[in-house]
Amino acid sequence: MKLLLLAPPGAGKGTQGERLAAWSSVRHIAAGDLLRAEARAGGTLGREIAAYQVRGDLVPDQIVLDVLTPAVTEAAAGGGYILDGFPRNLPQAIAAAELAARLGVTLDAVVYLYAPDAVLTRRLLDRAQQSGRSDDTADVIRHRLRVFAETTGPLVPYYTERGILVAVDADQPPDPVTADIQARLAGLTRAADR
Ligand code: ADP
Repeated sequence: MKLLLLAPPGAGKGTQGERLAAWSSVRHIAAGDLLRAEARAGGTLGREIAAYQVRGDLVPDQIVLDVLTPAVTEAAAGGGYILDGFPRNLPQAIAAAELAARLGVTLDAVVYLYAPDAVLTRRLLDRAQQSGRSDDTADVIRHRLRVFAETTGPLVPYYTERGILVAVDADQPPDPVTADIQARLAGLTRAADR
């Protein structure tokens, strides 16, 4: 299974990514988590990453690729991956397609989780206390949602045109969201078998 999870902040891509990875026995690769780990490790690169993350801006594409490529390469060799939070703009989508071609893998689907901005904002503010993330403040949340709409949003028509977008309503509790994704993916597999 090779899946991308495309979702605005607060839609639950981390939660769903973990569940889907366990369900399909592949590795869950969360771009934001890998970048945060790199930031925590410090050094010049870590400090640079942290500076983008704290503002809610996208980390430059080349850094993201350098951090993610080894994990994706390893996971592809091991049978697949759920890639959450990457790609996040058109140049990254093109780089992701090139990487997949180089590794000889094809994407099964891109799961797009959507929910109204008001719902996403409320969720992010609710969890801000526990998350301990420097980017979970009201101003930065607003900015992250804007970055998603302007920069990541165009990937929805991009993958729709390629016939692999699966859009799921994320404005429901986690269990029904998981069930909807699984039902849609099972439908895809059946269609492919015909
Ligand atoms: P969220 O989707 O809630 O913002 P993530 O953990 O996915 O949470 O991303 C947090 C931050 O990490 C982003 O605001 C950005 O700074 C950085 N980041 C994550 N993925 C990417 C990516 N593919 N390209 C550039 N920056 C990224």
